[in-house]
Amino acid sequence: MNRIPFDTVVLGAGIVGVCVAVHLQKRGRQVALVDRRLPGNETSFGNAGLIQREGVYPYALPRDLDTLLRYARNQSPDVRYHAAALLKVAPFLWQYWRNSHPATHAAIARSYSTLIERSVSEHRELAAAADASALLRPIGWMKVFRSAAAHDKEIRVAERWHAEYGVEFETLDAVRLQQMEPDLDKALLGAVRYPQSDSVSDPHALVTAYTKYFEALGGRFFIGDADTLREGWEVDTQDGTIAAHSAVVALGPWSERLTTRLVIACRSLSNVDITCTTRRKARPV
Ligand SMILES: Cc1cc2nc3c(=O)[nH]c(=O)nc-3n(C[C@H](O)[C@H](O)[C@H](O)COP(=O)(O)OP(=O)(O)OC[C@H]3O[C@@H](n4cnc5c(N)ncnc54)[C@H](O)[C@@H]3O)c2cc1C
Repeated sequence: MNRIPFDTVVLGAGIVGVCVAVHLQKRGRQVALVDRRLPGNETSFGNAGLIQREGVYPYALPRDLDTLLRYARNQSPDVRYHAAALLKVAPFLWQYWRNSHPATHAAIARSYSTLIERSVSEHRELAAAADASALLRPIGWMKVFRSAAAHDKEIRVAERWHAEYGVEFETLDAVRLQQMEPDLDKALLGAVRYPQSDSVSDPHALVTAYTKYFEALGGRFFIGDADTLREGWEVDTQDGTIAAHSAVVALGPWSERLTTRLVIACRSLSNVDITCTTRRKARPV
């Protein structure tokens, strides 16, 4: 098979892989981006499109009995599960439960927030360079409520995020909500609006625009199968075998299969280096 040399191969062309590929290419690397489908056709295709500047705390597993019982009945839109899969996901759920402990969750938010606080500005910059600014709507988003208790609870949470991380929010009563969104159900009691977030009108179009920008910078996209990755790093594509000095795994929900195989391989090979992105540095890089 034809051998094509690159500095880095990025596996997975969802929003994560495409953004990584753009940034590496901008930093002077020759980058190959590989996916089994065209970019942005899986998880990044049709999500809710929110760039949640307020999301400094990742979603925690609720710990109150009421919510857990609601989830256990499998009647909540938040969570749907197959009883037969519970045993398989139990180790993950246990870790999720532990990491959702308030103290651990707060520590996670401290590092997570450093990324989140740049999420909107970074996307605006990238979208402008990719000629895709029209896909970003700087209109924030809002949570609406049917119960005063739930509304009050969200306000308390928003006040905490504001005090800790400067997250901006606006409390709307029923009248103000109706003025802003006259077509919403008149029974709604109010809302909390997060104005700093952007909304993406078409997530798939944004990934496609970023990919075009990546190609305009000199990067190349290939259709190929990441599961063929082998030490070297080599991966087979429709146009030949890519041979790169480093590989980035950005396969979204499919990452685990490959990373598990790589970790097992690394344990038995001394000349394979997996660089951990959380490695400490003496100065900001
Ligand atoms: C209903 C819903 C709503 C959401 N709303 C939001 C939101 O409002 N805001 C937000 O920030 N996030 C939201 N998300 C989450 C967001 O969509 C994901 O976090 C994001 O799309 C993940 O991107 P990714 O690049 O990691 O994964 P993906 O987009 O899934 O990319 C992985 C890529 O890997 C490729 N791949 C897999 N296996 C192979 C293989 N063997 N060989 C080659 N290629 C392979 C796939 O084809 C795919 O293109 C939502 C998710 C869902 C499901």
